[in-house]
Amino acid sequence: MSLILRPTPLHRLDAISDQLGLDLWIKRDDLTGFALGGNKGRKLEFLIAQAIEIGAEAVVTCGAAQSNFIRQLGAACSKVGIECHAVVMAMPFEFEPPHELGLKTSGGNCLLNEILGVNLYFEPDGTWDDLYQRARELAEKLEKKGRKVFRIPIGGSSALAAYAFTLAADEISQQAPPFDEIVVATSSGSTQTGLTWAYRGTATKVTGIACDPEPDIVVDFIELAAQLDLLLGTCKQLSAQDFYIHFDAVGPGYGVPSLEGNQVLQEVARLEGIFLDPIYSAKAFVGLKQLAQAGRLSDRVLFWHTGGIPAIFAMP
Ligand SMILES: *Cc1c(COP(=O)(O)O)cnc(C)c1O
Repeated sequence: MSLILRPTPLHRLDAISDQLGLDLWIKRDDLTGFALGGNKGRKLEFLIAQAIEIGAEAVVTCGAAQSNFIRQLGAACSKVGIECHAVVMAMPFEFEPPHELGLKTSGGNCLLNEILGVNLYFEPDGTWDDLYQRARELAEKLEKKGRKVFRIPIGGSSALAAYAFTLAADEISQQAPPFDEIVVATSSGSTQTGLTWAYRGTATKVTGIACDPEPDIVVDFIELAAQLDLLLGTCKQLSAQDFYIHFDAVGPGYGVPSLEGNQVLQEVARLEGIFLDPIYSAKAFVGLKQLAQAGRLSDRVLFWHTGGIPAIFAMP
């Protein structure tokens, strides 16, 4: 099902290219034209089609209160007449969250969710497993009431979602000659996995900048890639060596803005008139700069803007 306007624009960042001594371009998935933009629109075109196909009356997902995925999912559900239920925590963490740094649980995506009629269930902060468990319980409760429920994993990450990003790779091949390297924010992983799968065996390297400090995220990415092979009947068999993940720009933790990220957000806004978001794309840009300054980045680089701008309005 079609939700976004494609192709999303792709253009050069002249001022920052000069500053960093790179040939730096940007893919504007912040401008998908759907529910204020972001990378989740591509995934949702497939996830919502799947929900409709199984005759879902309600979807259940989970995430952080300021999740960009939940906002875009809520808009897609509302558009096709499916209820959207989401279990959220202010900051799901495996460790004690530094609350004073975290995003507010009002405004930003929370406000947009209200406008869209998303059913948000706030849970006290806990671990990721606690969050997944609460989502399972909610789905079971709705099922007991007789509703046909479609469960959607956090961030919408599934093989179909990754598939959407293999198509996004085709999209940029129509827009520009090949890049040496693509840099993208990464967390639940279907964006990076789809792109990595698509560029496997080409001269284009895909580098994910982790926005989640968990070093094991690559295990999930390998699993997603295996499912993508199954879905497409291919045999790329991506392994840990195929995934380039840079972990030095996460800052205080997942879902918490970083000082460096906020500085870069301001810098890019002032130099290029483009807003990044504090949780993903600004940190990804910090990672890009770190790699450039360490001489570890190729010359002709594409930065993938994954959206997330509403989170700016929930910054402390
Ligand atoms: C969800 C999200 C990401 C991460 O994408 P994944 O496919 O979950 O890794 C990056 N940036 C923004 C703005 C997001 O909302």
